[in-house]
Amino acid sequence: MNQGASKNRRALVTGGSGGIGSAICRRLASQGFEVLVHANRQPVAAERLVAEIAAAGGSAQACVFDVTDGPATAQALEALLEGGPIQVVVNNAGIHDDAVFPGMQPAQWHRVIDVSLHGFFHVTQPLVMPMLRTRWGRIINITSVAGIAGNKGQANYSAAKGALHAASKTLSMELASRGITVNCVAPGIIQTSMSEAAFDAQAVAQLVPVKRAGRPEEVAGLVAYLASEEAGYITGQVISINGGMI
Ligand code: NDP
Repeated sequence: MNQGASKNRRALVTGGSGGIGSAICRRLASQGFEVLVHANRQPVAAERLVAEIAAAGGSAQACVFDVTDGPATAQALEALLEGGPIQVVVNNAGIHDDAVFPGMQPAQWHRVIDVSLHGFFHVTQPLVMPMLRTRWGRIINITSVAGIAGNKGQANYSAAKGALHAASKTLSMELASRGITVNCVAPGIIQTSMSEAAFDAQAVAQLVPVKRAGRPEEVAGLVAYLASEEAGYITGQVISINGGMI
């Protein structure tokens, strides 16, 4: 892939402290992006990753904020934007808090939607105008197979991810003529601490035709492609990466 084109471009990865997010940060840094590694409760993990990227010859900076807190997110982004426009945003921060619907507590419903859906709004909106002025941008939202097909016990999570699919399609139409693409990457079961607790090897073999969990690096490869120059004609899409689950 062309490293030159991404040189000096800045990419924010929310949840860069987590399993999939850290793989995305490493990969974008290796493509030449200056990566803003975001964390919330694990700032040390983000700092560690920044040091690792720098040691490998890349460029990175850590940032810390809670994406559910609109004013705090706006303030943090304003400070980051002083360093120049952020032309790639990967909305990857997400949580799940599962319960079958009759037993789902209001706090579980709201919290999951707050992080994934309201977090997307809080992070993306302040970045759009500066991105528009550059006439180039990539907005990539990490969603889930559950947002396409549903999943028992995840009405909150699938609602949040499905809403992101719809919001991304609309936003892609609004921004298409300005060189900005908006896409979703919908993973199936990926090997991180989020999935380890939920699926053992037997469950993975049963659910996934490829018979293994995906690797964070495989998701990162797809994100890097969507962030690249050559993916400029892909927009408004939900791209699955799930070993053939659906
Ligand atoms: P992790 O739990 O490893 O990472 C989640 C990340 O989200 C962490 O970096 C965490 O930051 C961040 N985060 C959580 N809450 C907040 C918040 N309120 N504000 C800011 N950041 C927050 O999960 P994964 O890497 O597995 O998941 C990444 C994304 O991929 C999620 O959106 C998830 O829904 C999606 N996904 C994952 C799948 C899987 O099998 N693993 C399958 C399908 C989709 P910190 O730890 O610093 O607080």
